[in-house]
Amino acid sequence: MKRREFIGAVAGATAATAMTAYSNEAPQQQAAMQPQQTFKWKMVTTWPKNFPGLGTGANNIAKLITEMSGGRIDVKVYGAGELVGAFEVFDAVSRGNAQLGHAGAYYWKGKIPSAAFFSAVPFGLTAQEMNAWMYYGGGLELWEEAYKPFGLIPNPGGNSGTQMGGWFNKEINSIDDLKGLKMRIPGLGGEVLKRAGGIPVTLPGGEIFPSLQSGALDATEWVGPYNDLAFGLYKAAKYYYTPGWHEPGTTMECMINEKAFNELPADLQSIVRNAIKVANADMLSEYTARNQQALQTLINEHKVELKHFPDSVLKQLKDIAIQVVEEEAAKDPLSTKVWASQKAFKEQVMQWTGNSEQAFLKARSL
Ligand code: CA
Repeated sequence: MKRREFIGAVAGATAATAMTAYSNEAPQQQAAMQPQQTFKWKMVTTWPKNFPGLGTGANNIAKLITEMSGGRIDVKVYGAGELVGAFEVFDAVSRGNAQLGHAGAYYWKGKIPSAAFFSAVPFGLTAQEMNAWMYYGGGLELWEEAYKPFGLIPNPGGNSGTQMGGWFNKEINSIDDLKGLKMRIPGLGGEVLKRAGGIPVTLPGGEIFPSLQSGALDATEWVGPYNDLAFGLYKAAKYYYTPGWHEPGTTMECMINEKAFNELPADLQSIVRNAIKVANADMLSEYTARNQQALQTLINEHKVELKHFPDSVLKQLKDIAIQVVEEEAAKDPLSTKVWASQKAFKEQVMQWTGNSEQAFLKARSL
């Protein structure tokens, strides 16, 4: 081949290669150059804005979604009462007035009888066991079935761990001490208190302290030391009881408006789902890290008296809880199905917890 022909051939080949490469890359380059679609989302919550653990857990989900999506989804968080009231969160997200809602499913048990089973069941699953049921025991699929008619996709959106039994101004030495007691306690725990002769009240977090202080409430539960210290509940009650038999490992929820979710491309859908999953684990870590410090502050600085419910009271509450939960589960077909799933799961996972953590915790305290 003569030199000129050779150069010409190489140039031609290079041009052809370049042309091929260009044809292959062109769609990607075009895609990269096109402005990506961005989404402005609102998250409404049942918690006071920036409230430790719960409000900041909601903020965490928003931050993770915004960061992980490189700003393609921009989530703005609204505290209770900013856009809608605490107990209007479900309807707001269902209607699409907000795309995300952070709450506790038991707040909606008047609307969806099975909802309470997805947050907390008295004497039921711990945080770790709830996550196991949700992700690997069929719980989340049942929850999706419950929320589907409302155009909502539920997700476990944080867990408080085992809560505290609550704040009282009198000692609870027998179950009779609960009779006539007006106590803020939501969900199935409230139904158990009612059966024990008490008067359960459901109030959003922000209304608890003033109601306890004014005497409108005799007693209240809220979450645990980290949150209860932040609300100043020690200023209105003397005795702080443990354990939170009514909320052994409460799952918070992050619900997504289904229509808004379906409008997202697949990568953003995965980001939303996984950001919520990360935040679910993160909240439990934060509570586990901070509760004991807060409890020490309550006892040492605020002179709160830490008390344990007597075993006899707990045993009676447990017997009542078994009846109440069965009766609540029988009220509608979905509740029956959900409780059948959770109950079967509980019976097997309790054995594993007994053979692992419970056995170890016993050994550690020897
Ligand atoms: Ca609670």
